[in-house]
Amino acid sequence: MSFCVKCGADGPTYRSLCESCFLEGKIFSSLPDHVDLFQCVHCDDYLIDGKWSKVARREESAEREVEANIDVNKEATVRNVGIHAERIDDNNYQVGVTIGLTVETLEIDEALDTIVRFKNTSCPRCNKLMGNYYEGTLQVRTRDRKMPEGLQEEIIERIYKLVNDHKKNDRELFISKLSRLTTTHGGIDVLLSSSTVGRMISRDLADQYAAEVQETAKLVTQKEGKDMYRVTFVVRLPAYRFGDIVLYEKKMHLVGALRSTTTKLTNLKTSQGVMVSNADMTSAKVIGRKEDLLEAVILNETDHEVQVMHPGNFKTFDLKKPPKFERKGDTVKVFQYDEEFFLLPLQG
Ligand SMILES: [Zn+2]
Ligand SMILES: [Zn+2]
Repeated sequence: MSFCVKCGADGPTYRSLCESCFLEGKIFSSLPDHVDLFQCVHCDDYLIDGKWSKVARREESAEREVEANIDVNKEATVRNVGIHAERIDDNNYQVGVTIGLTVETLEIDEALDTIVRFKNTSCPRCNKLMGNYYEGTLQVRTRDRKMPEGLQEEIIERIYKLVNDHKKNDRELFISKLSRLTTTHGGIDVLLSSSTVGRMISRDLADQYAAEVQETAKLVTQKEGKDMYRVTFVVRLPAYRFGDIVLYEKKMHLVGALRSTTTKLTNLKTSQGVMVSNADMTSAKVIGRKEDLLEAVILNETDHEVQVMHPGNFKTFDLKKPPKFERKGDTVKVFQYDEEFFLLPLQG
């Protein structure tokens, strides 16, 4: 049988001491006398455990910040923690903690308390927002044409969605300013809090619209010894879009999938597909918009031709089927160029 080297008592020992001698005068956890908790006066977020977070109840913010401030002796492991905050006045909350610890094989419960003092401040994001801060400029333009309003809104929606998706990982990410240009060709200018997200958005647009991206960086200032750059991304959208008809190498083509470096074309007469580099596509000329294609009802179909009715003047006429033509429904897409009509090789 072991005995306590201090009081001589028989029984189990912990580092050669009986339970009461081992625990005598010992406290394994502690809290500061008071805890300052910062809240942003603009966005109401709290700075909890070094991170700005949205918390619905003041009590909960106090409890979470106190939990982050509990100091536990290395000899002890935490079994459980109970925290309860109670309002003294608007800016001061009393917070009580009960903490269950295991030391050696002993289970110990301790009670702590502290005062949380709420302090008003302005968080870094709100500081930046109010200072119209930006690191990245995104300029979206169209080549050789005015940016259609529908396209403009589609791109703006896409930009907002991308920024919102990335906000989840970066609290300080925001759009500082977004303008719809009223110049002859129109376009979109966006000021962004981060140039990284500007790069991400411009790549996304390049991929989606076969756009060309130009990036230029300019040193604006030094902040805490670090160089601060403002980066401008110019995204130039091609004149054509998916589903348009272009004249490429003097032949009519339907525009298919757009990628950041290539565009797929399908020859209207031969149905042949070809991948064209976007650099070569600058020579392509748009001769028809997807919106302008006619949707004609089929009246009759033979092996080589379909007979359709013009949706505008209800005249009927025959169209030669391009190779591998397959119709999807009772109507077909028809492209009118000068006085001639062409059946699109790809329908649907
Ligand atoms: Zn003892
Ligand atoms: Zn804030």
